[in-house]
Amino acid sequence: MRAVVLDRQVHLESNRPEPIPAEGEVLVRVRCAGVCETDLQLIKGYMGFRGVLGHEFVGIAESGAYAGRRVVGEINCACWRCGTCLGGLPTHCPNRTVLGILNHDGAFADLIAVPERNLHLVPDALSNDVAVFTEPVAAACQIPAQVAIGRQARVVVLGDGRLGNLCAQVLSGLSDNVLTIGKHPEKLAILRTMGIATALLPEVTAEPMADIVVDCTGSESGLPTALSLVRPRGTVVLKTTVAGAQTMPWAPLVIDEVTLVGSRCGPFDKALAALADGRVLVAPLVSDRFDLARGVEALERAQTKSALKVLLDVS
Ligand SMILES: [Zn+2]
Ligand SMILES: [Zn+2]
Repeated sequence: MRAVVLDRQVHLESNRPEPIPAEGEVLVRVRCAGVCETDLQLIKGYMGFRGVLGHEFVGIAESGAYAGRRVVGEINCACWRCGTCLGGLPTHCPNRTVLGILNHDGAFADLIAVPERNLHLVPDALSNDVAVFTEPVAAACQIPAQVAIGRQARVVVLGDGRLGNLCAQVLSGLSDNVLTIGKHPEKLAILRTMGIATALLPEVTAEPMADIVVDCTGSESGLPTALSLVRPRGTVVLKTTVAGAQTMPWAPLVIDEVTLVGSRCGPFDKALAALADGRVLVAPLVSDRFDLARGVEALERAQTKSALKVLLDVS
């Protein structure tokens, strides 16, 4: 099969052996996959991953209870036997693999093996181009699963990229005071068409007033900027994972008694519901699409400043 593989560098393999499903796994024939900031960080060395990239996908299950049907898949492959799993936190299983991120081949390929219990049926009304956003929308839905957000909460989303846009949309369904701060006028313009207030980063000089700041910058400058915007006793939600070491003064966190919340993968059922009822719009985010055979080019394109979501057509 074809696959976009990361080893010393990213390349296309056209004769990679098909994945062999482990116990409890089924093969999914990928139809569409999305490029995410995490893929770009993996290429820079994050997690030291080697293998087939890609964790955002929609495809057709080849066997099992969903055989022949369209599915999306949660990315954490848990053991379901350890104390963490039995305690109800399988996404934190210490024995887990993660599709396209940790010791498990991913979705930039004709076929991917996925634990059957990770699969979710895609409603017929959702196109592949929309369903492929389930994983990142779920990540955005994880924020209200971790932090209470009231109607009056002053929320700042830092970052106008792929994830920042989705977080801003999800959070503006909960709070009437969401402001997205970014560096790209054309990306902020997309958010304004969705009715979300925006500001250009250099123009922000306000005193720290936000109750909640969500860092979706994908940059090591995100957390220091977030701390300059959050009010004392406020909350900073970190969505950014950056390859390599980060250094910053931690004293402001102590002085302002800021709560720092790391936030990662989220609920697929909530994401599918938000996509199905139009609370989250994703079509405006698709900036480019490439055939899987041009996957290396797609990853290069996703690294450029003007790109938003780059999709890979696999069929
Ligand atoms: Zn992702
Ligand atoms: Zn486990």
